[in-house]
Amino acid sequence: MTLARTWSVGLAGVHGAVVDVEVDLSAGVPGVVLVGLPDAVVRQSVDRVRAAVVNAGGRWPLRRITIGLSPASMPKQGSGFDLALATAVLAADGAVPAESVGRLVLIGELGLDGSVRAVRGVLPAVLAAARAGHATVVVPAGNAGEAALVEGIEVLAAGTLAEVVAHLRGRASLPRHTRSPLPPAPPGPDLGDVVGQPVGRRAVEVAAAGGHHLFLSGPPGAGKTMLAERLPGLLPALDEQAALEVTAIHSVAGTLPPDSPLVTRPTFEAPHHSATMAALVGGGSGPIRPGALCRAHRGVLFLDEAPEFPRAVLDTLRQPLERGSVTISRAAGAATFPCRAQLVLAANPCPCASAAGDAACTCSPLERRRYQGRLSGPLLDRIDLRVDLPAVTRAAWLETGTAPEPTSVVAARVAHARAAAAARLSGTGLGVNSQVPGRLLRERWSPPRSALRLVERALERGVLSVRGYDRVLRVAWTLSDLAGRTVPGPDEVAEALGLRLQWAAA
Ligand SMILES: [Zn+2]
Repeated sequence: MTLARTWSVGLAGVHGAVVDVEVDLSAGVPGVVLVGLPDAVVRQSVDRVRAAVVNAGGRWPLRRITIGLSPASMPKQGSGFDLALATAVLAADGAVPAESVGRLVLIGELGLDGSVRAVRGVLPAVLAAARAGHATVVVPAGNAGEAALVEGIEVLAAGTLAEVVAHLRGRASLPRHTRSPLPPAPPGPDLGDVVGQPVGRRAVEVAAAGGHHLFLSGPPGAGKTMLAERLPGLLPALDEQAALEVTAIHSVAGTLPPDSPLVTRPTFEAPHHSATMAALVGGGSGPIRPGALCRAHRGVLFLDEAPEFPRAVLDTLRQPLERGSVTISRAAGAATFPCRAQLVLAANPCPCASAAGDAACTCSPLERRRYQGRLSGPLLDRIDLRVDLPAVTRAAWLETGTAPEPTSVVAARVAHARAAAAARLSGTGLGVNSQVPGRLLRERWSPPRSALRLVERALERGVLSVRGYDRVLRVAWTLSDLAGRTVPGPDEVAEALGLRLQWAAA
C-alpha cells in the first residue's frame, strides 16, 4: 500500500468542515509535498509529525511523500491536523492497516516526543464530524471531556501516538470517552449583596427581563460594576443547544475551564478600555480567535469606563450587536462568530470622577459635556435603558431595613416576564422585547392612547426622538410583563420614560 486516506476537521471560526487527508508515497527524491492550501502552521507540522513518528518508535518513509488536504477551498489553520497526517503516513507505508485509518476522524497536535497534545476548537470540530456522518473520532485525552459533549459519535481519547498505532494494529484499544454528568455551575455573585441602589437594581432586573442593553452612569463606588456582574445571574440558564454554541466559542478562544467543559450559564466578559480591536471583537495572529464580544454570546459584555474606550472601537461594536454575528476577514480566509450579547456600559459622569459626587467635582460644564460626548450617538441609540446612579451614602449603608432581594427571587420574576413576552412574540421569530423592531411595535403592539400621553408630549417637545419613542415602548412592555399586566398602562410608560431620559441626549 502506498496510498492512504484519513480524516480531520478544519475550522473557520466556530464552523468546522471535515477535511480529507490523503498521503501518497512514490519513488523519487525523499521529501514532502503539500497540496491544498495548507497554512504556514500546517507546513511546520510536517517536521513535528516526522519527529513524533520517529520518537514513537515508528519509521519515517524515505520516499517522496505527497500530502493532499481537501477540499482545497477550506482554510486549514492550526496544528490539529498532526495526528491525521502521522497516521496517514504510517498507513501509506504499511505500518498500520489503511482500512482502519480510513474510518477515523483524527484531531490533535503532536509533541516531538510523540505525545498527543490538546488543541483549541475540539467541540466545534467534533460537532462537524458528527454532522458529516462519521462514526468515530480520536481526540487528545485533554480534550476528551469536551468532545464527549457531542451526541451520536464515538469519542476515543489518545495520550500518545504510540497508543493510536497500537489501537490501529488491534493490539490495544484507546479508551472510549462518554459524557459524564456535569457538576452544577458554581453560583455567580448575588444581587442580595447590593445594598441600597433601588434604581440600579430595578434597571438590571428590567434589562434581564427584556434583553435590553443598559447604560449605568454614576460616581465611583456607586456600584456600577457590582450591578453589571449580577446581570448574568438574572438571565435564564442556557439550554443544551445554546450551551453547546457558547462552549464552541470558548473552545476556539481557548478559555474553556478544563474541569467543566460545558458553559451552562450566561457568561460575563469585561474587557479593559485599553483592549485592542482584536481583543474586543476578534482576530489575532494565527487562527482567528473570537474576542470578548463573541465570548459574551448569550451573556453580558460589560464595558466599564466606556468613554475611555477609543471611539472607533466602540463604533465597531454597533453592527455586530445588531446583527448578532461578527465576521473577521483575513487574507487566509474569514471566520464568523455569533455574538448575541447584552451590552452594559458604565461611565463616570465626568473625567474627574469624584467619589463625593457633583459637589466635589472640579470639571467645567464644557469638560463634562465633552466627556459625555465621547460615547457615540449611534451606539447609545441602541441602548434602551439609561440610569443615573447616585453615590451610595453612609446613611444608606447604615439603614437596616429589609434585606435586599437575592438573585433567586429577582430571577424568578425575570423568568416569568420572559415567558409572557415569548408567548406574545411567538410566531414572529423574536424572543425578547428588545428585539422587536419599532415598526412592528407601533403597528402591532402599541399601548392604548391613554397610556401614551406622556411619551407623545415628550416627542412633540422634541426631548424624545422617534427611535427614542420606540425604545420607551419596548421598555414599557418589559415593565408590563414584569408587573404581570397584559398591556402597558400610563405607569409603565412613565417609568420607561424615566429609565432613558438621562445622560447626554435622549
Ligand atoms: Zn468632575
